[in-house]
Amino acid sequence: MTDVARRALLSGGALLAGATALGGTVHAQTAAKPLFPIKQTLIPIVGREEQFPVRRIYCIGRNYAAHAREMGSDPTREPPFFFQKPTDAIQLVPANGIVDHPYPTLTKNYHYECELVVALKSGGRDIPIDKALDHVFGYAVGLDMTRRDLQRAMGDQKKPWEIGKSFDRSAPIGPIHPVEMVGHPTKGRISLAVNGTVKQDATLAHMIWSVAEQISKLSEANEVMAGDIIYSGTPENVGPVVVGDTLLCKIEGLPDMSIKIV
Ligand code: MN
Repeated sequence: MTDVARRALLSGGALLAGATALGGTVHAQTAAKPLFPIKQTLIPIVGREEQFPVRRIYCIGRNYAAHAREMGSDPTREPPFFFQKPTDAIQLVPANGIVDHPYPTLTKNYHYECELVVALKSGGRDIPIDKALDHVFGYAVGLDMTRRDLQRAMGDQKKPWEIGKSFDRSAPIGPIHPVEMVGHPTKGRISLAVNGTVKQDATLAHMIWSVAEQISKLSEANEVMAGDIIYSGTPENVGPVVVGDTLLCKIEGLPDMSIKIV
């Protein structure tokens, strides 16, 4: 053993000893440190000092029948499907507050989708529907902002939607409300107004796949984990916004969430 390896073994402790035992090449290891820091995405929690760390952002597509029809699909036949946004697509919006939301690049048809967001405190694989809600930490109001022209163009070409859905600040969200405070919202009104005119207006009971069913179904495809959040779909009457518009999202039992397109 070289002097360097011996010193590393003495300072590196069990980790290095383990690597040696497994036949790995011995390097002068130190505790793994990132080359540079990357900001963890955190969402404020109402009534708590701790914030909710986001691991993954999942979104379900076409989860309200009338919206599925307006997007050109048959809501009676389609199984649920999911896509993801990058974790740092989150844009925080204070409760009952408003933030500036820059109109994104590349699009000429930028759409709102008001959604109930589910935040998980634990997870698993193949979670049964009747156990799924045990994993929910809380709920928030969110917007699944969408470059609709790009989403459609990519879909028409049978290419991934990503550029239409998964971009910077595409996931505005309000603070998370723990289940102890708000229960599991299943029936309340969900609505969105643009400049004071109501555009989307439905109830959570109109979801095709319930929150529990979404978690269960998602856990068949991926192990879901604490820190995952799920945008649970939007009702009908999605539509475009332009610079200067103010969007107001409401879900019964949660504070309003508002963004201004700038
Ligand atoms: Mn959506």
